[in-house]
This record gives sequence, C-alpha cells and structure tokens, in this order.
Amino acid sequence: MSCIDINDGEAHIKPEYILPKEASGEKKEEESGASEGADSTSEPPQKKQKFTGRNKKRPKLVKVPKSSKLCRQLWCLRVGEDPKTKCTYPNCVFSHDVATFLNNKGEDRGTECHNFRTYGMCPYGLMCSFGSDHIEGTGNKVNEELWEKFKNKPPVTNTLKKEVQQLLWKRKYDFTKAMQAHRAAHEEATSKIGEAELATQDMSVEESEKTKAIGPAPEEDLIKLTSREKKKVSVI
Ligand SMILES: [Zn+2]
Ligand SMILES: [Zn+2]
Repeated sequence: MSCIDINDGEAHIKPEYILPKEASGEKKEEESGASEGADSTSEPPQKKQKFTGRNKKRPKLVKVPKSSKLCRQLWCLRVGEDPKTKCTYPNCVFSHDVATFLNNKGEDRGTECHNFRTYGMCPYGLMCSFGSDHIEGTGNKVNEELWEKFKNKPPVTNTLKKEVQQLLWKRKYDFTKAMQAHRAAHEEATSKIGEAELATQDMSVEESEKTKAIGPAPEEDLIKLTSREKKKVSVI
C-alpha cells in the first residue's frame, strides 16, 4: 500500500529517483559548457572514452632469437653427458651452452616434477618448469628403477611418432595395409549387398510386372544427347 495521496493533483516521484540539488546543478553547468564550447576560460568538454577500435597500447610480442633457445637434442641431457656430442645437426642454430641457458632460465613453478616422480624421467628435461627436482649441475637425474618400467610404455599413446609425422608431410607414408583393409571391407560390403539384391530380385520382378511405368522415359543416362538436344540456359 502506498502512503502517497494520488488525488492531491501532484505528479509524485519516488524518493530514489530524485537527484540531490548539487548534483543536478553540476549537470546543468556541464550542459551549458558543452553548448557554449568556444569559451576560452572554461575547459573543453571531455570526450567520451571509446571502447572499440584497435588497441595500440597492447604489449608487443618479443621474438626470442633461436640462438638463445636450447637445442631440442639437449633437453634430456643426463648428468655427466657432454652436450657437444648430443646434437647431430651440423648447422644447428640453437644454443648448446647449457650453463648459460640454466642461468638465464626463469624461476621454477614448483619443486616437484610429476613426470620425474611418476615415470622416473622427465621428457622436458632442462626445459621443465619443475626442473629443480631433476636437474643436477648441467644434466638431468633419472630414476633408473622406475624408468625401466615405463621406458617402453609411452604415457600418451594417441600421438604419432616424429618419423611418421615426417612421412605423412612428405606424402611418403606406406598406406598399403590400410588400402588392403579398405578393399577387404569394401568387397565384404558389396558381397552382402549382392546377396540382399538376389534375395529381393524375384520380388521386384513380380512387382514390376504388376505396376507399369507411366510418363516419358528419356533414357538420358543410357543414350548420349547431342549438343542440339541438350537444354540451353540463357545467361543475361
Ligand atoms: Zn643443436
Ligand atoms: Zn620435469
């Protein structure tokens, strides 16, 4: 129930919609300033901030030179191994200076490496963000006992080996096995269809005798049409 008497002849406004006197006064001033515009003493009206368009202040991507990235061949360098003998690429442009790489490497994200603790060996090696768990000096520690169990069982099985990937890129992958399987499956399917057709053939012959075809039979699929006979479409 409202306490306002609606029959007193006034258009009442709810108190939450009434602006305080000062705020309304400022607004009026602003409006007048905007309309005058050319007045040198008053500050120019502030433009509304746009939230669209190109963000020119966004941070730019910094490209790290290849020479400062550690060579992939050295990631899993073990304790006591020589980095110089690890890389087999004669013109490798990546860094082979493990000591400098480790000095410049950022802080680790944690102290326990899941891969090292679970499988005994971390595939990310020196690059690992939890590397302090398995990096000793300039090499990686390996828990041989644990690693022996998982050595021949990769944790992820639905990935292609690098060699297979390369063969696929170069379109040199041997698909004969797959083709044989495909052909066998196709032959099996067609033989099944053939059997089914034979079974239904007698039925269809009987049915066709009963129902005669009505309408034109152009047999375009059987007899080739000449260029004169073909339908012509006029293009405007
Ligand atoms: Zn290299
Ligand atoms: Zn690790």
